[in-house]
Amino acid sequence: MKIDFYKHNIDQSDIDSTVAVLRSIMLTTGDVVKDFEKQFSSYLGCRYTTGLTSCTGALHLALLAYDIGPGDEVVTTPMTFIATANAILHAGALPVFVDVERTTANIDAALIEAAITPRTKAILPVHLYGQMCDMRTIKTIADKHHLKIIEDAAHAIEASRDGIRPGQAGDAACFSFYATKSITSGEGGAVITNDKDTDDRLKILRLHGMNKGAADRYSKRYQHWDMLLLGWKYNMDNIQAALLINQLKRIDGFQKRRLEICSMYEQEFKDNKYVTCLKESSGSKNARLMFTILVNPDNRDKVLWQLQDRGIGVAVNYRAIHLLTYYKQRFGFRCGDFPVAELIGDSTITLPLYPGLKDEQVNYVIEAVNDVTAKIK
Ligand SMILES: *Cc1c(COP(=O)(O)O)cnc(C)c1O
Repeated sequence: MKIDFYKHNIDQSDIDSTVAVLRSIMLTTGDVVKDFEKQFSSYLGCRYTTGLTSCTGALHLALLAYDIGPGDEVVTTPMTFIATANAILHAGALPVFVDVERTTANIDAALIEAAITPRTKAILPVHLYGQMCDMRTIKTIADKHHLKIIEDAAHAIEASRDGIRPGQAGDAACFSFYATKSITSGEGGAVITNDKDTDDRLKILRLHGMNKGAADRYSKRYQHWDMLLLGWKYNMDNIQAALLINQLKRIDGFQKRRLEICSMYEQEFKDNKYVTCLKESSGSKNARLMFTILVNPDNRDKVLWQLQDRGIGVAVNYRAIHLLTYYKQRFGFRCGDFPVAELIGDSTITLPLYPGLKDEQVNYVIEAVNDVTAKIK
């Protein structure tokens, strides 16, 4: 059997809406993006969405929108995709890592205050694999120290915790529509916020700092545009928005099936003493974008390869960022600096998880994991 690591859920309605854009004159940012932004805001229960070409761009622009740059520090987690920390560097600021919780792999809110200095401007929590961080505690800390909260919600569109959804405790939350995310346009991203000024800045920053987009120039009598800020080129286009807009209507159905698959995995790994699953925090509604298991770090790569040999697509999300060559060389990080993130990074394996996965495929993965881990120990 061959089981892909991920399969997207694009259907005929997504193809049709995309073809409609391709047959229209406006391929770049226009009404379809506006429509998607409106519907994304409505899904998340927030006021404003800015459609972008990636979550990396979203994180970068959110930092710039709050004037975070050289000389500033941003507290974040080393257990995430490199985009999170790289965006802080792109803004010219310094990522300050805080270790993670052993049970959830999310940033350990109890360790955040010790990492705050007079240069700290923001906290950048990541809702890893779809489970939200402890936003109540993080918000209390941020308020006390007058810090912004920018959430990396790339895994967590459908999540909530203690009734709080992404973007509700934070000042801004960033999303990804990359190929393996919950809804996808191949590449794509967004920032949400409830603050009008922030939204205005984001919409200018996403297109070079111009005060008018191509659609404004095309649809009305020619008006000169001006450049107000030094922006970037991160604007989502109508093709991306057309791909996303119907997927957004089906997003809860996708998540429901992922939750079912996760229950099957958890049930069947319960009695396997070589496999540990992460824990659900109380009050958490996990979006469940990814399902990861932890195995003995000495054998992780062996387990990974043997699962691949059995036709199963697997990945490692993620090895701790501070031990990657660039970060080690630039900042002098060492083994032991963030021991929990390191342990998780050395133990973790991500299994296939997507709505199109059939029960028999899930069972095949379960049998393979149980068999391989029992043999390797
Ligand atoms: C995918 C991902 C990103 C980056 O998203 P892009 O849209 O590819 O830039 C950022 N953070 C996390 C946690 C991710 O998984």
